[in-house]
This record gives sequence, C-alpha cells and structure tokens, in this order.
Amino acid sequence: WSSTTFTCFSQTSELSVSVDTYGNNIIGGGGREHALCYALQRSPSCDAVFCAPGNAGISTSGNATCIPDLDIFDSLAVISFCSKWGVGLVVVGPEAPLVSGLANDLVTAGIPTFGPSAEAAALEGSKDFMKTICHRYGISTAKYQTFSDASAAKQYIKEQGAPIVIKADGLAAGKGVAVATTLEEAYKAVDSMLVEGIFGSAGYRVIVEEFVEGEEASFFALVDGENAIPLESAQDYKRVGDGDTGPNTGGMGAYSPAPVLTKELQNVVMESIILPTVKGMSMEGCKFVGVLYAGLMIDKKSGLPKLIEYNVRFGDPECQVLMVRLESDLAKVLLAACRGELKGVSLKWSPGSAMVVVMASKGYPGSYEKETVIRNLEEAECVAPAVKVFHAGTAFDSDGNFIATGGRVLGITAKGRDLEEARDKAYLAVEEINWPGGFYRQDIGWRAFPQKQFSRNA
Ligand code: AMP
Repeated sequence: WSSTTFTCFSQTSELSVSVDTYGNNIIGGGGREHALCYALQRSPSCDAVFCAPGNAGISTSGNATCIPDLDIFDSLAVISFCSKWGVGLVVVGPEAPLVSGLANDLVTAGIPTFGPSAEAAALEGSKDFMKTICHRYGISTAKYQTFSDASAAKQYIKEQGAPIVIKADGLAAGKGVAVATTLEEAYKAVDSMLVEGIFGSAGYRVIVEEFVEGEEASFFALVDGENAIPLESAQDYKRVGDGDTGPNTGGMGAYSPAPVLTKELQNVVMESIILPTVKGMSMEGCKFVGVLYAGLMIDKKSGLPKLIEYNVRFGDPECQVLMVRLESDLAKVLLAACRGELKGVSLKWSPGSAMVVVMASKGYPGSYEKETVIRNLEEAECVAPAVKVFHAGTAFDSDGNFIATGGRVLGITAKGRDLEEARDKAYLAVEEINWPGGFYRQDIGWRAFPQKQFSRNA
C-alpha cells in the first residue's frame, strides 16, 4: 500500500473511515468525522483525505474529498476503493460497521485499519460481554445481572429496589438505557425490551444494573492491541435542556480538559480500567486496536471511577474538542496503533481549553423539520481566533445554501486560554449563526463553573 490515508464517514455523522496518503489526509462524515478530518489534514504525514460519505462541511474543507456513494457496510467496495487509490490507512468512525466486521475484512485484505475487529467491538456491541470482561479481569463496574426472562428480571429488580438501571444488551442507537427511579418504571423498561421487543434482537437480553450516583466523565485511550495511551480528558452534556433536563441526546456540548478527571483519577482509570481491559482482551484472543472510550461515573460515595459503558470509537462531540487541541501528527499516531507500535508514543496537546456547543434542529431528539437553511457559518468562524465550525448533518440546497439534514447539525468549537474564554468565544460564534430552525443549550460548561453564572441567559 502506498502511504495514502483514506477516511469515510456516514451521512448521519455516525460512520467514518479514513485513509491517508503520504502527505495527504482525509476525514469526513459527521461532527466527529469532520473533526478527525481536520486533524488529519493538519498531519504532516498525510496529504490526502477521502471521506465516505462525508457532508457539506467536509466537502468544502481543504483537500478532503467526499465519496457519498461508497457504502461503508460493503467491505468489498471499500477494499476496492482503497486498492484503486492506494489508501494506506482506514479509520472507521462509527461502531456499527465495526461490530459488523468491516475492520476484519480490511485487515485481512492487508489495509491498515484503525478500529477494532468485530470480536473486540463486542465491548460496545454487547453489554453482557463487556460486563463479563470486567468481572473476569477485576475491572470496577456497577453490580449487575443479565436476563432474558422478564419475570426473573423483575424479581431481581424487586430485591434490589429503585433507582435501578435497565440496559438492552446490544446496540440500540443510543436509546437502550433506562434509568428507572421507581420499580414500576423498571418493570416497564423490562417489558418493553423483553416482551414487546422494541429494540429487536438487541433487547432480547437485558442487563439490570446498580444505579451509581456521581459525576459522569468520558475517558479515551488509543490502543494498539497490547499498549494504550490516554487522550486528554473531556466531558459531554447529554441532556437536551439547560440544567441537564429533558431527554438524553447524542451530546449537546463538551469541553476539554474536564476538571473532574484530575491527573490522579486519570492514572487510576488507566491502571484499574483501561490497561486490564487491553490485557484481558489480548488474553481472550481478541486484541483491541482502536479507540477505547470509557463512559465513567465518579462514584459519589468512594470518589473512585466506575466503568458504566465501553464504546469502541471516538465520542461525539468530545472528539471535536480533542481534535482541535491535538498538536501531534494524528495520521502517524493512528498508523502506529495499527502496527502495534504505540509504546513510548506521547501526544502533544495545546494548553488551555476547548469547548464545543452543538446546534441541533428544533424538536431534536424528537421529530424535527429538515432542510432548514443555515447562514453565516463563515462569519461565525471569524468572530474570534481559534473558532472552528464542524458539520454533522448538513448538505447544500439547489441555491448553494447550507441546509440541515439531521438532528445534531453543527459543532461550534473554540479554544481559549481557559475554559471561560473558550466558552465565551464558542457562544459568540453560535450567536453569529443565522439559523431560525436550530437551537442550542445555553449552559455548556456549567459543571466546571459551579459558583459562577449558571446559564448565559440566567
Ligand atoms: P449509556 O447509553 O450507557 O451512555 O447510558 C446513558 C446514560 O444513562 C448515561 O450517560 C448515564 O447518565 C446513565 N447511566 C447508565 N448507567 C448508569 C448507572 N449504572 N447508574 C447511573 N446512571 C447510569
């Protein structure tokens, strides 16, 4: 393979594959993929980036080429594309193609691929598998039991009491978790998954899990099968409304670093969660290569991190704040991960902080209007230095205007000397954008400023 790097993303911003060519990098797709693309384009070792399928923002960013017709679930088509263009690295963004084995097929075809095999991706694809690994290798996680029978699950719930958490075993598009505050809610969640089958086969088994009270944090590590290196800390805001109210979303904002993840805690997470997982997966015969994204709860009682979930790809929008802060050559680092050469690699990050405020279509995460026109995106990037607008769900209309095509549509990202400056710049840029069909949370970052103004509108 030549040294080309190639990256593909899904239209829905959920899927990405990246390829790089010596001196050329590409990334594209959703907000996460746009951010990866942005970092690859800045990588000195990468000179071309292809994104499948990409979006309007990626297609207008530098030397990235979007490939809207490449089906990333069709391994043969991806392999054939890589052969034709001499792609030297594929980065798979979303979990679904990983769980269905895209990385297995690409690696078998000899294409360096950043992303785990289907077997290793089961850490995200099956909560029961993830819990089994935790149990076997002594990784701190919430107490649980797995059920496929509704009455047995309810009996266990009755014994444990509420609040309690019910989770579909498989992938359920981010909707498979019910945090039940009463026994009735918990029983209802069990019935909806095990009896009514609302998640299909993904919900034929459920995990009933202890409710852990504490602050959530995301922790990311790059893994090469045997070694892992941590990324900077980040924290996201999942609820749709100010003050963490309303339903869960894919993420309405994030910042990095996250004060909750002190250096000491990060060391604890590496030593007691990430490294035992990497070692355990290797011992199980399914080495993990890719991003290990640990969803953590910092237990209010003990102050120690508990693993709530694993994802096997970058989180979005956390990826956006991490990629604007990354100063190392991303293509080189990801290729080192594919080759099992991460040992001794250290990453360089810009000092200060970064924040992203997500703009979504009004109505999200429920139903929303599509194809509303968005204006002033270029102007928004000019309100202050180090502001970057990432696109998640955008396209062009026939007049060449940007239009919204999804729920989460834009990530307005800014860097600052500190979190306060990053926040002020990000919101300045948000306010510059003319999009009557969109909305955003006013209070991203509030957990980091507990004593200060809670909401910009407060
Ligand atoms: P997940 O889809 O696994 O990220 O879960 C969605 C949300 O449910 C998490 O972000 C947490 O807020 C919450 N959650 C999941 N598991 C637990 C737990 N064991 N205790 C308390 N909250 C949880």
